[in-house]
Amino acid sequence: MSNRGKGILSGNIFCGHCGGRLTATTSGRGKINADGLLEKRVCYVCYNQSRKRKECDGPCTYTSARVDAEVIEAIRGLFASLTGSPKDDIMGKVFDEKMNDLRIRLGQTSERLREETAELQIYESEVIKCLTGKSRFSEDVLSRLIDEKAEIVNKLKLEVKSLESQMAAGTETVKSTETKLDYLATWADLFDSSDMETKKMIVANLINRVTVSKDYRLTIEFNVEIERILHAA
Ligand SMILES: [Zn+2]
Repeated sequence: MSNRGKGILSGNIFCGHCGGRLTATTSGRGKINADGLLEKRVCYVCYNQSRKRKECDGPCTYTSARVDAEVIEAIRGLFASLTGSPKDDIMGKVFDEKMNDLRIRLGQTSERLREETAELQIYESEVIKCLTGKSRFSEDVLSRLIDEKAEIVNKLKLEVKSLESQMAAGTETVKSTETKLDYLATWADLFDSSDMETKKMIVANLINRVTVSKDYRLTIEFNVEIERILHAA
């Protein structure tokens, strides 16, 4: 019997003592379960300790059923807090303020760019007058004014460009978060009735890493996007 897919976590679970990976493995001969099938105990094993690669003062094995049960509880808790808030509320809290701020700054900066560019054009049109001796400015003064103004205009152009790309990136994040929220709603409905492989896929999508220490103390780190959504929910 393969131990593949036995634990709900793989690749994202770590030892809280040495920092190494925990890997799922079966141990012992197993016992016959109620359905008459051979059932082996699945453990998460500290890789460093089992391979004697590094000192580790933590336990070598953790029963996966116990760790998985806690992870599943955390996932249920996550779904419960998300389904309590309407999608629009979450989106509003996460993005509205930030996007509005960007929109206002972009508007103000573009307006200043228009004004400064207009002034630069006035100075430039003075150059010809200067050559015919009809300008109110001397050549030196005019050339200095043009240089200064051109520098301001260039800076403002760069600022507008940067604000525009921040807006574009923000819009992308809004889209991806909306998609994620739709997924989350579906996953919340399906999770309890899903098979092990689906649960594992869902867990891998939501959890960045789980750290396990002595006495089954768990630290569960959701991924950044989930944290942001949770914060707003
Ligand atoms: Zn360890």
